[in-house]
Amino acid sequence: MATTLSENVLDTLAARLDPTRLRRDELLAPYTTFKIGGRADLFYDAASAEALADAVAAARAVGVPFFLLGLGANILVGDRGVRGLVIRNTAGHFAFHDDGRLWVESGAVMGRLIPEAVTRGWSGLEHYVGIPSTVGGAIWQNLHFLAPAPGRERTMFIEEVFHSCVLLTDTGTQTVADRAAMAFGYDTSRLHTYPEIVLSVVFQLTRGDPNAMHRVMQENLSWRGAKHPWLEYYPSAGSIFKKIEGVGAGRLIEQAGLKGHRLGNAQISPIHANIMVNLGGATAADVRSLIALAQDAVWQKCGQRLQPEIGMIGEF
Ligand SMILES: Cc1cc2nc3c(=O)[nH]c(=O)nc-3n(C[C@H](O)[C@H](O)[C@H](O)COP(=O)(O)OP(=O)(O)OC[C@H]3O[C@@H](n4cnc5c(N)ncnc54)[C@H](O)[C@@H]3O)c2cc1C
Repeated sequence: MATTLSENVLDTLAARLDPTRLRRDELLAPYTTFKIGGRADLFYDAASAEALADAVAAARAVGVPFFLLGLGANILVGDRGVRGLVIRNTAGHFAFHDDGRLWVESGAVMGRLIPEAVTRGWSGLEHYVGIPSTVGGAIWQNLHFLAPAPGRERTMFIEEVFHSCVLLTDTGTQTVADRAAMAFGYDTSRLHTYPEIVLSVVFQLTRGDPNAMHRVMQENLSWRGAKHPWLEYYPSAGSIFKKIEGVGAGRLIEQAGLKGHRLGNAQISPIHANIMVNLGGATAADVRSLIALAQDAVWQKCGQRLQPEIGMIGEF
């Protein structure tokens, strides 16, 4: 195991965590939508907000670096894996209230939460159907979706239904943050600035007609099915590069002649040029080389600088 952390310090941390939820040298690829990435020294499943806060406190107390993993849908994990602790957030308890407030732990998966809301007649989350995300990941990146249907062509953001959340700060205290405090923007929130963790969220939903919500979900899903490579067959991390206002990163890559270009087992999707796919056995090195190739080509041919949108995690 190529680690810079002593076995001793890892053992000390391991002794503080629930052994039934802890694994050593766990391969991370299966926990990402790209299906790429090496091993974590320690891997811990946090099944409640309390367990998540305790695991973070334990890692901080012992001085072991940690990474918080949701569904791994917006990251590329390095081939040499992650030193220290990876905490997978599976805290998914939730409660609906009569006034439309939904309290939910941050590891809840949007794909499971959405039908719970829709069947109860609560509207606001259905727009994000088909996007792989935990609630915490959705807040980190201000999850968004450009509604495709006539009459609702606009980008919708999760911040629109966000009421407040409980943050675990870097000093270990817990504090409630409202929408203004979260500093939401396009693909960003205050979590990009401060080393804080969302433990739970309150969404403010509104009464909606389940039939209308089903229609929205069907439209969104069929739009996705037509425009995006199918995740089950073509593992990816969604859009690779940040949006370039008015131009579109995918269009630039297409103009540079790279749509469908393959490097190792990674490919610029022939369906959507801002999505790179794992054709089977792709490495993080393949993806990084393809990213560099696209950046160079777009700079040379279009004079635009592409910046990765996904997080690069661990050792490459
Ligand atoms: C096929 C596909 C389609 C996609 N389509 C869209 C789309 O239409 N719109 C869109 O916005 N995104 C899209 N994405 C990107 C992705 O779904 C989102 O960014 C999603 O919110 C990631 O959530 P996650 O739980 O997987 O986070 P992860 O990828 O696991 O983590 C991402 C970052 O969030 C941090 N994080 C996670 N949970 C917390 C928490 N509780 N507190 C603090 N930080 C936290 C992590 O530490 C990490 O830095 C798509 C991805 C794929 C694979």
